[in-house]
Amino acid sequence: MMTSEKAIFSHEGYCPICERNVEFRANHTWFRDHLICSGCGSIPRERALFKVIAEHFPNYRDLKIHESSPGGRGASIKLHRECAGYSASQFYPKIERGNINRTSGYRCEDLEHLTFENETFDLFITQDVLEHIFHPEKAFIEIGRVLKSGGAHIFTTPLVNKAKKSERWASLSDKQEIIYHHEPEYHGNPVDPNGALVTMHWGYDIATLITKEAHMPTTIIEIDNINLGIRAEYIEVLASWKL
Ligand SMILES: [Zn+2]
Repeated sequence: MMTSEKAIFSHEGYCPICERNVEFRANHTWFRDHLICSGCGSIPRERALFKVIAEHFPNYRDLKIHESSPGGRGASIKLHRECAGYSASQFYPKIERGNINRTSGYRCEDLEHLTFENETFDLFITQDVLEHIFHPEKAFIEIGRVLKSGGAHIFTTPLVNKAKKSERWASLSDKQEIIYHHEPEYHGNPVDPNGALVTMHWGYDIATLITKEAHMPTTIIEIDNINLGIRAEYIEVLASWKL
């Protein structure tokens, strides 16, 4: 990965996704997107997410896992490859929920209105998705609904506001028109070349919100371990537990 470009940083360590010794290399100081594993191409938040999954659910290979909007790299590929009970979905506004997109092969699911039965999954995974949802509180409730008791939503979302209150960045009017509360902001989106609109700037109070709205106690797990290639800004992993 990226061997043709000159690395400004490299470190030999152990990748939690590859489960072997690798080299972590960066060609940019923004490690969040650029500290790449030579084995699986993952970035720090993906290794952090996988470390939390493997620690809390060492039997993850035997579990029923759903991932919304997988990025096609790192933890998503590993779960897809190693877990028979793994499934994934993407949101396509023009496809009926629950149906398969024949081009991509993915099932269409809207996090705010999932079509799965109650208590279907042991684990629900989202990676940098919850900052793009118009009604995130609905999504947290829906994810809680489809989780089995004892299961968890393990996810990443950048907590850019840190100790400041979470802020709505964009919302939907009653007429379904987008209201921009601040300068519009977009992140890369694997299923839309226009990118994904940022709707929330989350802070640490996200944990309180999920606990209150979805009745799922939520913890924020911060890992900083360069030997695991886990070092960057905004790579907290969140775990919300279905009681
Ligand atoms: Zn790796």
